[in-house]
Amino acid sequence: MDNYIVSARKYRPSTFRSVVGQKSLTTTLKNAISNNKLAHAYLFCGPRGVGKTSCARIFAKTINCFHPTADGEACNECESCMAFNEQRSYNIHELDAASNNSVDDIRSLIEQVRIPPALGKYKVFIIDEVHMLSSAAFNAFLKTLEEPPHHALFILATTEKHKVLPTILSRCQIYDFSRISVSDMVEHLEYVGSCEGVTAEAEALNVIAQKADGGMRDALSIFDQVVSFTNGNITYQAVIDNLNVLDYEYYFRLTDAMLTGNVRAAILILNEVLNKGFDGQNIITGLASHFRDLLVCRDEATLILFEVGASIRERYRDTAKRCPDQLLYKAIELANACDLNYRASRNKRLLLELTMIQLCQLAQSNPEDSKKKGLIEPIEKTDILAPPQAKVVTTQIPPTVTATPRSANGAPQKKTQQGPVSTSIKKIGKDEDNGQDNQAAQHAATEIITPFDTTDLVKYWDEYTKNLEGNAYLKGIMVNCKPSLREDYHFEVSVHNPGQRDELLNDSGRLLPYLREQLKNTRIQMRIRISENNEKKLAYTSSEKYEHLLEINPVLGKLREEFNLTLD
Ligand SMILES: [Zn+2]
Repeated sequence: MDNYIVSARKYRPSTFRSVVGQKSLTTTLKNAISNNKLAHAYLFCGPRGVGKTSCARIFAKTINCFHPTADGEACNECESCMAFNEQRSYNIHELDAASNNSVDDIRSLIEQVRIPPALGKYKVFIIDEVHMLSSAAFNAFLKTLEEPPHHALFILATTEKHKVLPTILSRCQIYDFSRISVSDMVEHLEYVGSCEGVTAEAEALNVIAQKADGGMRDALSIFDQVVSFTNGNITYQAVIDNLNVLDYEYYFRLTDAMLTGNVRAAILILNEVLNKGFDGQNIITGLASHFRDLLVCRDEATLILFEVGASIRERYRDTAKRCPDQLLYKAIELANACDLNYRASRNKRLLLELTMIQLCQLAQSNPEDSKKKGLIEPIEKTDILAPPQAKVVTTQIPPTVTATPRSANGAPQKKTQQGPVSTSIKKIGKDEDNGQDNQAAQHAATEIITPFDTTDLVKYWDEYTKNLEGNAYLKGIMVNCKPSLREDYHFEVSVHNPGQRDELLNDSGRLLPYLREQLKNTRIQMRIRISENNEKKLAYTSSEKYEHLLEINPVLGKLREEFNLTLD
């Protein structure tokens, strides 16, 4: 154990290229440096451990490098780079506002700002967790931020952008760091593992990445922990045992029990899991997440939200095909209700079991619900189904009755009721088509394809936006980010950050059906892209300022219309 360095420190990125999972953002930063378009203040926002401080340090080093490489990285060889790498550069000052948030702390920083650098061009001041500064400290800082000397450059970092004063926000170029995707994390963990001579199963790294919830620093720290108790041979089993993670195998088995309505199997699986010492509440929230994962991998538009390892991706897809949307909505709702009631419940086990029973009943009750919602064709049309059902019925009742099997009472009626249980599940999973049982389903999923162009699309997009009530944020996004049509009636919307993407996605359940109906085209799908140019442009012209304000407050648009105002 001599000189053990934790992986998060040992593998801290030292070039833009080695920053994990923030490619578009680091490219923008590199471009700004090589085009010599530096701002005086930057705000790096995003969750913890995603590379904000690392990027700030790399940025500081790169803009001071004497011989930057052709692709915009620091050379790591010149005097300035060496000083940075050995942490003895005077051109970088870091202040952690979480612990140093007084006026005096800021004043001593401001003192430093005045003194020009002895070596290199810029002095860089990194203020971490800037939202923690006291308001007096904020105000003291504001003056410096307004008129900084040309050699000074500020990088403010925060996990909570909404807590940063607007006066500060408006003076900064804003960069939104995103959570690091599971696949990017797994890739990096594989790299670290190979450097450390550690063998690891991909699925094991996937569990670590999920546990880290988007933060690379956390992922590396969990990784170190796992390496130490597995002696460098990381298996899926070892990871789930040691991190107290419930094997997804159980969730798949519970899903199967739910789909087949097998209450006894579900309760036995639950018992098995509880006996392994897992907490009931974790089981139920895990199950809710599992249903959610199944839901998001049912549609191209939401597939980007699906973050499980490649090796079990197919399994999720296969299972998802068997789970109709409505069933999953209800299942998530039930699991969530159980989670909410769990703490207050005096018989927690019974609550869990009751939830399992309710989940298993979903598949049974589903056809009735679907009928009400018009998902299944009306009775007259389902009569096409009569022949195969009649075959079953003939063994029990005289052939003369088979002509109207649906009006039969007793046992035959029961049979016909059970038929749709399985077909209704196939109905919505369009991909399946076996046998005549499914004719109605195919009929229900009939495609309507009416050609249209981007202009038509934008027209209804705007129409929808106009009628949005109560969600100013979404409205702002939809006013600013217009869709453009791509191949096969898929359209693309380019947004600025994951928050905007999530907001749009949240609403896609209403937006897409609306567009499909208005444009009479069932193929319409939405793709959301986070714009390469993550950098928020500063508003210079009147119309840019207007657009910016409109994004903040969409009512402005109405005001402008009402009073027929123009911009010049
Ligand atoms: Zn250098």
